[in-house]
Amino acid sequence: MVICVILIQYIFKGEHMAYEVTATRKRPQLFDNLVGQEFVVSTIKNAIEQKRIAHAYLFSGPRGVGKTSSARILARALNCETGPTPVPCGVCPNCKEITRGNSVDVIEIDGASNTSVNDIRQIKDEVLFPPQTSRYKIYIIDEVHMLSTSAFNALLKTIEEPPAYIIFIFATTEPQKVPATIRSRCQQFHFQLIDLHTIKACLVEAAQEMDVKADDDALFWIAKESTGSMRDAYTLFDQVLSFSNDHITLSQISDKLGLVGIDQITEIVEFLLSGANNKALTSVQNLLDNGISIEQCIKDFTQFFRSLLLMKEGITEEAILGIQTDRIPLVVRGAYTKEQLEAALEMFLKLYRDIRFSLNPRFELELAISRLASLPYLASATELVRKLASLKEDLLSGKVSQNVGPATRPALAVAQPQQRVAEPTPVQRVAEPPQQRVPEPAAIPVQKVAEPQQQEKIQQAPIQRVAEPVQHVVQPTSVQEQPSVKPAPVARPFTKSDVPSLVGKLSKTPILSQVALSIKEVEQENNSLKLTFSTGFCRDTAQENLELLGSLIKDISGFTGKITVLCAEAEQPMHKGVEDPILNSIASLFRGEVQN
Ligand SMILES: [Zn+2]
Repeated sequence: MVICVILIQYIFKGEHMAYEVTATRKRPQLFDNLVGQEFVVSTIKNAIEQKRIAHAYLFSGPRGVGKTSSARILARALNCETGPTPVPCGVCPNCKEITRGNSVDVIEIDGASNTSVNDIRQIKDEVLFPPQTSRYKIYIIDEVHMLSTSAFNALLKTIEEPPAYIIFIFATTEPQKVPATIRSRCQQFHFQLIDLHTIKACLVEAAQEMDVKADDDALFWIAKESTGSMRDAYTLFDQVLSFSNDHITLSQISDKLGLVGIDQITEIVEFLLSGANNKALTSVQNLLDNGISIEQCIKDFTQFFRSLLLMKEGITEEAILGIQTDRIPLVVRGAYTKEQLEAALEMFLKLYRDIRFSLNPRFELELAISRLASLPYLASATELVRKLASLKEDLLSGKVSQNVGPATRPALAVAQPQQRVAEPTPVQRVAEPPQQRVPEPAAIPVQKVAEPQQQEKIQQAPIQRVAEPVQHVVQPTSVQEQPSVKPAPVARPFTKSDVPSLVGKLSKTPILSQVALSIKEVEQENNSLKLTFSTGFCRDTAQENLELLGSLIKDISGFTGKITVLCAEAEQPMHKGVEDPILNSIASLFRGEVQN
């Protein structure tokens, strides 16, 4: 049994000698080797140069950013035979002993496992004896916040009036848990998370030193995953190296560690944007079938939408984004509004919280992906009200000169997925009500939001209307110029689906286009066409402009017969059953009704 243990120890030791983890191998031995903590380093070095040496230091900051390393460098700097010096020699017995961790005058205590008052009382007794071989007797207490209250009290007595040769260096990840009485007696240094690019540079260096080939995006991923901790980065680097056969690639990392690559997420999002929801869902299935956990999937989607949101806000720094920007195609970057990205991020964050209690986490993920498909059509109530208000203003001021389709639908926010196919920026079209006229000549026909069967007709209307100057608005005569430029239509029945075309042709006269918009029914029998308007006012206005309407209808369908105008007001009262005051006011503005 004993032999066995010795053998195991021997083997372990032998292996340990041969292989040193990167974090240990790369542990900085000088202040200048400490990356990412320039402010702390320069302050400490200056203090040592000026011989202003405090009796207690408190190093705080996240794990793996160099607190303990700095404590050891400081110990060497103070006890080096050439010191105190900001640049310890590293070769004198004191330096070597501290590096090996066997200096009798530098005592490292782990606060997490020596929490009791007795452990500290021992220090209290020991400090009475001066250092044996060095200038200072240095106590490095790691995770000092773990000490018990009584231990802190015992410690306080010592650091209040320490002998001149005693120096305490405390390190903690949670400085707020260290009593103020202790903190106020320490020189405090806050260590910061290390910049992603700095970590990546260190990884590149480590790979070169080990003669290992490593792809840029793979090291970027390791640096990102380590979230600012150098030690985590080196540990992950070692782990990746263990299965990488001297060439670290991102695809290997994805395979072995079960990750969703940025390319895979981008592909899924592109499928969704092009309306191929089935392909997106299949891709997700494939990911899960390949052993990627649902949690990991959600995490990666969350990271993706966070990055898109930050990019939307104009952040380009990859260290903040946590993503290499050139990996995301421009079409994906521009596909969503800030609001929609916020909604997506919120959805995935919530999903991550919820899956613990879910009947089936896989279903939850699929539901989320399915919901993502309609993300480009999401608009908040605030946004819709704002748009409607501005629309009303524009309409009243005569800026708006055309209406399309049944505009008063409340369900603006969600449209049919198949309409989106191959449209690069569907978001804007929904976010803006169809009637809104932008002052500059828009390249995209705004009518695309309308019902599919209307699109064909509407596109016949000249696009130049968009940039129409305001003075045309109340000149009905100018409308008659239009038919001359149109090709001669083929005679066919005029139907309700032609109404948007008619509305389009009346765009220069807002009142008449409103009137045309209120056509509720179209009935054609032989040579007689009956148009039923929703209100008496519209009927009367149409009657007054019957000649113009007739010529435009002829232009559209070739119909030349008799036109009769009717009113449907008696049997269909306005705004029935709608309680929303905003919709009602919009409806009354358009002299229309709200359809449910
Ligand atoms: Zn030395």
